[in-house]
Amino acid sequence: MSHVVVVGAGMAGLIAGYAAIKAGHSVTVVEATSQPGGAVQSQVLETSEGLIGIDAGAEAYASRSAVMDELLEDLGLADEIVTPHPAESWLYLPDVGAVPAPRLGMWGIPGDPQAKEVVAALGTEAAARAAQDLETPMDAWAKRRAAGEPITVGDLVADRFGPVVVERLVAPVVSGVHSADPYDVDIDKIAPGLVDKAIEHGSVAKAIATLRAAAPPGAAVKSLRGGMQEFATALVAYVQAHGQLHFDTKAVALDIDSGTVFTETGQLFHGDHVVLAVAAPTAHDLISTVTPVAQRPVLPQRPEFGAGVALVMMAVDLEALDAHPRGTGILVSPNVTDIAAKAATHVTAKWEWARASATKLNKHRHVVRLSYGRVTDPSDGSAPGYDTSDEDLRELAYNDLAKLFDVPKQQVLENVAAIASVRWREAMPLTTPQNAQRLAAIQDAVEAIDGLHATGAWFAGTGLAAIAQHALALRFNPLQ
Ligand SMILES: Cc1cc2nc3c(=O)[nH]c(=O)nc-3n(C[C@H](O)[C@H](O)[C@H](O)COP(=O)(O)OP(=O)(O)OC[C@H]3O[C@@H](n4cnc5c(N)ncnc54)[C@H](O)[C@@H]3O)c2cc1C
Repeated sequence: MSHVVVVGAGMAGLIAGYAAIKAGHSVTVVEATSQPGGAVQSQVLETSEGLIGIDAGAEAYASRSAVMDELLEDLGLADEIVTPHPAESWLYLPDVGAVPAPRLGMWGIPGDPQAKEVVAALGTEAAARAAQDLETPMDAWAKRRAAGEPITVGDLVADRFGPVVVERLVAPVVSGVHSADPYDVDIDKIAPGLVDKAIEHGSVAKAIATLRAAAPPGAAVKSLRGGMQEFATALVAYVQAHGQLHFDTKAVALDIDSGTVFTETGQLFHGDHVVLAVAAPTAHDLISTVTPVAQRPVLPQRPEFGAGVALVMMAVDLEALDAHPRGTGILVSPNVTDIAAKAATHVTAKWEWARASATKLNKHRHVVRLSYGRVTDPSDGSAPGYDTSDEDLRELAYNDLAKLFDVPKQQVLENVAAIASVRWREAMPLTTPQNAQRLAAIQDAVEAIDGLHATGAWFAGTGLAAIAQHALALRFNPLQ
């Protein structure tokens, strides 16, 4: 049996702690803030009729692998697993406004470039250009792949389908879900295997159609009744019952010989194994403190944090939203100039438990979550997002909700029951090719030190399923 010290009580750190305890080890988790869960948090909207709790960060998990289902079952939460309402989602595009999103696709890349919704969103000329993907050989991409060159989503799609597809179909999804510009996102990070499949099939669209057909039936995402924060609560209870969890305890330095984690409060924690479940820039800082100095790895430049995002959550009493006019939500093209939000989720249309909790208070009550900013925005605060004041965010949100859902702004203003905002930066990895190289160097350094591990979204890929898989695969065998 080993003693494992985990730095960071976000979901990756909590899952790593949970897995270590299950494997028979003793565990201490140290968390810099006073809250566990990292980007899995709840936001309580206080309305005059009562409280509505919704997710303020991650709201669901990808269900294509069984890892999350098994973990939740193990934690006794199997009966709490829910699927979203199967309504369509929408896109908001320049010129045309709100249109239903193509159904067959991956990150907005169409699996059928000739589908009716694709033609409606692109126009006939751009749709004809998109269809060239079906016939143009993939030779140039096979060469780039063989040379090991990084491939961004934007570069691949612009070449195969035309730049209009990046602009109108892919950018709203990638920037909505990943908060990044498609030309900055490494395709292997968000669609592993797609490029190789496309080379094999001679077409990206055909590869997507094949991958989609092979996907197991059922919802692509799931969540928990009451929101994903129930997952964090269950993990915290488990770790606290079988190990130790220290809040307001920020790790600041590491000693390799003695396996010591030094903290800002002056407390020292010794482990046979130390898990860094923090963002890569923070992991970089901690590794740069390693003693003895002779064992300190030489790392390239620190990876950069992205610009971060802000979310506005609003409870509104609007009968016009009862029919769920934008399905479960709408993604906004970055080229739309009169709407600042990059996406809006109609939370009470997406999750039945949220609808039940809101309509108990008022039969026309809805909760909408709008997101602002992209990880790849310039970090000078010029784009609305992480650095925008609460007051300005609210103003933007009233305006955007009115436009996206086609409701008069005055009606929105008169019917807001509660509004709140929240900001995220560390939990959203900046997946630029340059950062990817710096990350790889950190991973190599960690692997070279016995008993040191790095996990979490920056190392495993964004998303709860990816981080769970990575954290559960850590091994804490006694060291020689
Ligand atoms: C707005 C938003 C929506 C999202 N939606 C989804 C979704 O629907 N589905 C999905 O699967 N994923 C979603 N994600 C992604 C998902 O939430 C993250 O991938 C995941 O929660 C990251 O967990 P983590 O533990 O790696 O990092 P974090 O959540 O960032 O946790 C890191 C923890 O380490 C702590 N820490 C940092 N430095 C130190 C230190 N020096 N010492 C001690 N502790 C430290 C931090 O305080 C934090 O608690 C979303 C993310 C955001 C921001």
